[in-house]
Amino acid sequence: MIRKTVFVIILSICSINLFAQDSAIPDSIICYAADYNAGTQLLLTLNSGAKIEATAQIDVTYIDFPEEAKPAFEAAVSIWESYINTSKTIRIKATWASLAGGSLASSGATRIFRNFKNAPLTDVWYVVPLAEAISGEELNSGDYDINVNVNKNINWSYNTQGTPINNKYDLSTIVLHEIAHGLGYSSTMKPSGNSQAQWGQSGYGMIYDFFLQKPDKVLFTNSTVYGNPSATLLSAITSGSVYFKVNNPGLAKDLPKIYSPNPYEDGGSLSHVDESYYPAGSENSLMTPNIAAAEIIHTPGQVILSILNQIGWGVNNLQNNVITATEPVLPEIMIYPNPVSNQVTLLVPSHLRSSNSKISLLDNWGQVLEQAAFDSTLEPNKTIDISHYVSDIYFIRLENEFGIFVRRIIKN
Ligand SMILES: [Zn+2]
Repeated sequence: MIRKTVFVIILSICSINLFAQDSAIPDSIICYAADYNAGTQLLLTLNSGAKIEATAQIDVTYIDFPEEAKPAFEAAVSIWESYINTSKTIRIKATWASLAGGSLASSGATRIFRNFKNAPLTDVWYVVPLAEAISGEELNSGDYDINVNVNKNINWSYNTQGTPINNKYDLSTIVLHEIAHGLGYSSTMKPSGNSQAQWGQSGYGMIYDFFLQKPDKVLFTNSTVYGNPSATLLSAITSGSVYFKVNNPGLAKDLPKIYSPNPYEDGGSLSHVDESYYPAGSENSLMTPNIAAAEIIHTPGQVILSILNQIGWGVNNLQNNVITATEPVLPEIMIYPNPVSNQVTLLVPSHLRSSNSKISLLDNWGQVLEQAAFDSTLEPNKTIDISHYVSDIYFIRLENEFGIFVRRIIKN
């Protein structure tokens, strides 16, 4: 006897081991000089009662560095040692190098890791010094964690007292800035071709990426609104109106404003704060894309500290401190890759897993094409083969007692 109602459920669902620890080499960031004398001075000031002893150890290996430049580098290192918390030594390789004209320095973590022990989010990249701080484990066998390349062709000031000197760039200020990039102040979002932008490395986002948004508070990693890649995303990251979502209530009404010029600037966009919003001499100007001559910034400022805290760093001297290195932020449902040609995977984060889950594939009209029940506590990754469908917009829907979650996908 043949049943009249034919449920054609072609979900070829399988779980794959995506939680294995993995690492990759990230892009480095180039930071440029502003061609004027700022004559401004922001010195290290700690809140009353704040810790001043080091809560991190940062070791520097100097390559071709002139002896007289090292104290200025060390001064910046000791500032970060008193702000961030880690039980693992951070190793910096500092190279005195000849960089392209106009650039002060380039920097970045040597590696990024995902799915390390105690990782707050699954399948999200963290820079190695942060991954080691969170896991409490040595992940790269004692190799360097951060590279800082300083342009030897710049007219540097090696003064460690924070004295602005006209036509000289303050080395301590730049090193303080560059180390912040190595601590994770870095986005993977960038243009893809002429008309789109994308995010991620090997398909996975960097933790910093997951907090970028416009004033409408829709995160750029929200795939229901921003395809990856998409023209919508390119428009957003060049909108001049990008903000970093932080939980710090002290910044709720004045979220960190991120540098997002049009056109996109390689090395500058998104991995810095907005220069016009945080001008030279203002409290949170350390991470602006251009540092001027005679511009002294020897303190990270609450905005920069809040961003580092948000991506997972335990930070001293942060007002309205809300999260610590080991306290997870709640991740959202993720779909990847997107756009997709053959197999698309739904990742259910731990707080949304249920033995009574249902996954559906819907067409652009909301019609259910395929559906299956599954236990997301056992299979948090569900892969659906959609290779036999025509190129179009589709939706993946997850339903369980925590709610209904819908994500848009593009089938190539
Ligand atoms: Zn920079």
